[in-house]
Amino acid sequence: MAKLTILSDRCKGCGLCVEVCPKKVLGFDKKSLNAKGYRPASAIAPENCVGCAFCARMCPDCVITVER
Ligand code: SF4
Ligand code: SF4
Repeated sequence: MAKLTILSDRCKGCGLCVEVCPKKVLGFDKKSLNAKGYRPASAIAPENCVGCAFCARMCPDCVITVER
C-alpha cells in the first residue's frame, strides 16, 4: 500500500484530487477546518490507494505526496 502525506493546512478544498483519484481514496474532512478555513482533502479509504500519484500531480498547491 502506498503512503499518502497530505499537508492539510495548505489545502484549499478545490476537490481536483478527489475527482481524479481512480480508487475513491480521497474525500473531504467534514469535521474540521484547516488554517485557511477550508475543509481539507483527506484519505477516507487509504487501503484502496494504488500509488498512481494522479492526486499529487493534479494538486495545484503541492499538498499531496505519494511514496511507494
Ligand atoms: S495515489 Fe492514486 S490511488 Fe492513491 S490517492 Fe492518489 S490518485 Fe488515488
Ligand atoms: S487538489 Fe490539492 S488543494 Fe485541491 S482539494 Fe486536493 S489537496 Fe486540496
